Amino acid sequence: MRIVVLAGGIGGARFLRGLKQAAPDADVTVIGNTGDDIHLFGLKICPDLDTVMYTLGGGINEEQGWGRTDETFAVKGELAAYGVGPEWFGLGDRDFATHIVRTQMLAAGYPLSAVTEALCARWQPGVRLLPMSDDRVETHVAVDVDGERKAVHFQEYWVRMRAAVDAQAVVPVGAEQAKPAPGVLEAIAAADVVLFPPSNPVVSIGTILAVPGIREAIADAGVPVVGLSPIVGDAPVRGMADKVLAAIGVESTAAAVAGHYGSGLLDGWLVDTVDAAAVQEIESAGIRARAVPLMMTDTGAAAAMAHEALALAEEVRA
Ligand code: GDP
Ligand code: CA
Repeated sequence: MRIVVLAGGIGGARFLRGLKQAAPDADVTVIGNTGDDIHLFGLKICPDLDTVMYTLGGGINEEQGWGRTDETFAVKGELAAYGVGPEWFGLGDRDFATHIVRTQMLAAGYPLSAVTEALCARWQPGVRLLPMSDDRVETHVAVDVDGERKAVHFQEYWVRMRAAVDAQAVVPVGAEQAKPAPGVLEAIAAADVVLFPPSNPVVSIGTILAVPGIREAIADAGVPVVGLSPIVGDAPVRGMADKVLAAIGVESTAAAVAGHYGSGLLDGWLVDTVDAAAVQEIESAGIRARAVPLMMTDTGAAAAMAHEALALAEEVRA
C-alpha cells in the first residue's frame, strides 16, 4: 500500500510514528511543510522537516516535541556573548550540525529535496521525506502592534510573540511561484490513499496545499483522502491553530476545519470522541466522518488513530 501524508511538525511527526506501527509494510511518502523555514546565523533551518526526521529517526526531544534529545546550548551561549541573536529561537548544539550540513549542501548547489534525502540517510526515518518544494516559501503573519499593521515571519509570531496577539492574515510568501519538489506529484499520482494528519490546517497543511499543483493532484488522484482533526473540543490540542484559523475566517471546531478543506478535497474526517456531535454535520456536507479517540498520548494511541484513518479510507473506497 502506498500512502502519502502531508505533514507539519509535531502533529504530523507523532501521527507518522503511529502510522509506521499501524502499517509497517506500507510505502509511506511524507510531503513536508517548508513554509516555517527560516534563515538564522547564516543557516537554513527547516523546523518541520527536522521534527519529522528526528521523531521518526529516534533523535527527538520527546517532552518538547521538537529539537534534539540530550541537547546542549554552548553555541547559542557563545553567540549571545557576542551580542548575536535572536535569543528567542532555541537552537542546540546537536541541532546546529544539521543546519550546517544543510546550508553547506545548498550552497554547493544541491536542491533542498536532495539535501533532505542526504540528512535522512543518517536518520533512517523509514519513510520517504520530501519537502513540498525546493523553492523558497516563507509564511508571514500580519499583526497589529501599537495600532500599526506589520508582517512578521511565522517563527517570530509563534516563538517570540507566543501568538499572544491576533493574526490578521497569514501569507505563504513565494508559494504562488513555487513548484512541487521532484517526486511530490508522482507520489500523489501513485498513492492508494492520502492522509492529512492532525497538523495545523493553515500554516502546515494549508501551506503545502498552496503550492500550485499539489491540491489539484490530490483532488485528481481518485483515491481516498482522509484527515484527522487537530481541533479537539473546539480548541487546538497544542499550538496556535485557533489564531491562524480565525485569520482566515474559519471557526476552531473539528467540523469547520473539515468544511474548510471541503468535500472537493476530503473524503473522510476523523473527529475526537468529545466532538461526536459534529459527525452528522460533517456527513451532511458530503464528508464521511467518525468519532474516535484522537489524543496522541503515546505511539500506541497514534497507531490506533492511523488504523482508524486507514479503515475509513477503505470504507470510502468501497
Ligand atoms: P507544528 O508544525 O509543530 O505546529 O505541528 P503540526 O502542524 O504538524 O501540528 C500542529 C497541530 O497538531 C496543532 O494544531 C495541534 O492541535 C495538533 N495536535 C498536536 N497533538 C495532537 C494530538 O495528540 N491529537 C490531535 N488530534 N491533534 C494534535
Ligand atoms: Ca510547523
